[in-house]
Amino acid sequence: MPRLQLISMALVASFTAACAADELAGEPAASGAVGDVSDDTLDVSAEQASLAGAGAAQELTRPAFKVPFLCDQTWQGNNWSGHSPAHSIDWNHYDANGSPDDYGRRVVASAGGTVLDSYYSTSNGYGNVIVIGHGDGWHTRYAHLSERLVSKGDTVSMGTVIGKVGDSSAIYTLSPHLHYEQIHDGSVVVSVIQGVTWSDYTKRNQTSNNGC
Ligand SMILES: [Zn+2]
Repeated sequence: MPRLQLISMALVASFTAACAADELAGEPAASGAVGDVSDDTLDVSAEQASLAGAGAAQELTRPAFKVPFLCDQTWQGNNWSGHSPAHSIDWNHYDANGSPDDYGRRVVASAGGTVLDSYYSTSNGYGNVIVIGHGDGWHTRYAHLSERLVSKGDTVSMGTVIGKVGDSSAIYTLSPHLHYEQIHDGSVVVSVIQGVTWSDYTKRNQTSNNGC
């Protein structure tokens, strides 16, 4: 086996192990707890090294994911330090006065695919959760929904409305938001949305061009 391939496989393995330790708990605390990035410099650099190895193989197959909300809506994403699983993004929407107005807003498929799960989870913090399979080992997960509008086995297109933002969770008391994950081969990975890489501990606004 070529040396380069061996190195790449080792990096992928270490990255997978790191993610598996997160237990996919769904949410460790109420949203909005923004981590102090400066305290986590060592962790970030170690993780980035693994991501660099896994990244090349992933990008060959990653679907062209879009913001999981309606065209032209601007949402604030936050993949804060301590969020579980690592790399997940919590999304919030604010009105013109800066007050949260997330609840009941429509959630759309980040890319086309097949609904693999749509249920209320009592075994972890996800609450009403939907998982879509996109092929090549890629999934997206949408959690804490107030309503689920698709069922397991349904085929969805990019932009199909799949549910509504909520605060559901069997474990945590939450403020309304969408918990979003991009998953490759069973591990939550750093999201790439509309060409933007959501490096760890990023908080920024992004405007949807999904279905525009
Ligand atoms: Zn979350």
